[in-house]
Amino acid sequence: MSHAQTATIIPPPTLSTDAEPPASRRARAGRAHPDATELDIRPGWQHALVYLFVVAPFLAVIAGIGFAALGHGISWLDVGLAVGFFAVAGHGVTVGFHRYLTHRAFKAARPLRIALAIAGSMSIEGSVIRWVADHRQHHACADQPGDPHSPWRFGTGPLAVAKGLVWAHLGWLFDRAQTPAARYAPDLLADPDIAWVDKMFPLWAATSLLAPPAIALAVTGGSGSAALLAFIWGSLVRILILHHTTWSINSICHMWGARPYQSRDRSTNVWPLAVLSMGESWHNLHHADPTCARHGVDRGQVDSSARLIALFEKLGWVHDVRWPRRERLVRRQTQPGCGRPDQDEVLVAQTARPAAL
Ligand SMILES: [Zn+2]
Ligand SMILES: [Zn+2]
Repeated sequence: MSHAQTATIIPPPTLSTDAEPPASRRARAGRAHPDATELDIRPGWQHALVYLFVVAPFLAVIAGIGFAALGHGISWLDVGLAVGFFAVAGHGVTVGFHRYLTHRAFKAARPLRIALAIAGSMSIEGSVIRWVADHRQHHACADQPGDPHSPWRFGTGPLAVAKGLVWAHLGWLFDRAQTPAARYAPDLLADPDIAWVDKMFPLWAATSLLAPPAIALAVTGGSGSAALLAFIWGSLVRILILHHTTWSINSICHMWGARPYQSRDRSTNVWPLAVLSMGESWHNLHHADPTCARHGVDRGQVDSSARLIALFEKLGWVHDVRWPRRERLVRRQTQPGCGRPDQDEVLVAQTARPAAL
């Protein structure tokens, strides 16, 4: 992909028109389904936690800067903890929640399946089944009514686009209507291992928050200030960066960037986010070929998630990986797929490892 391609704004959407009354647009968009039940409305205490987990990391940045001004800056231990936990939780989301559990881009051995679901839960982006249900609904309705987080929700005027970006980035998190999991993730609800990981989500979230300060305590021989700084930088700031990286895929990667492949939505490839997003910002290719295990399919496109899947394959922990096929990619440059991961072509028989992996 040429980097020069990334400056384009995509053509006017079909999600809604500026001529349509806002109330009508709101009614047609969002996650609410006519068959939604009270189970699909987020309970009040969970809703309060959403606010907490969006606001607290911001406060942690301010606290971290304040401590640095007082001479307690970020240490190499804090950097190591932040990078390490970012990589584990981040790849738990990209490889586990997304490419494996949402799209079935490969098959995994049971211990790895459970480990990936736990690692993804440590991102504190919601429990595994909720995350997968939201994302499957996003693909089923991408940039159309029913998409939980399309930036085109409010229309195409400058104000509507600005509002849509905020909505797609984090506004949709505060929508108490939840994606019906029974409709979008019945396979995971019926999977005892994944249902257990989902139920234990508070434990994984607590582990994600408390492990960095616990490690700092152990390494420094019980320094309370080292534990506090590890909690700020290794837990909260790390979660802030990971959250906003994931949310950028929903906002920026449906707004600006290159569209080298055909898809029935407005997804884009955004190269500056490739390293931080662990390959997820090659989002146009992903929507064009949702079950593909590798998103950065073109030369020079960094995709650490695909490399990790390749490593797992080499170790024998995953199999039937849906690696990209050249003829399929060429077809996607001129012709969109069906856009339904569950109805996509079965590629297992003819998979080929890409040369760059
Ligand atoms: Zn998308
Ligand atoms: Zn996806």
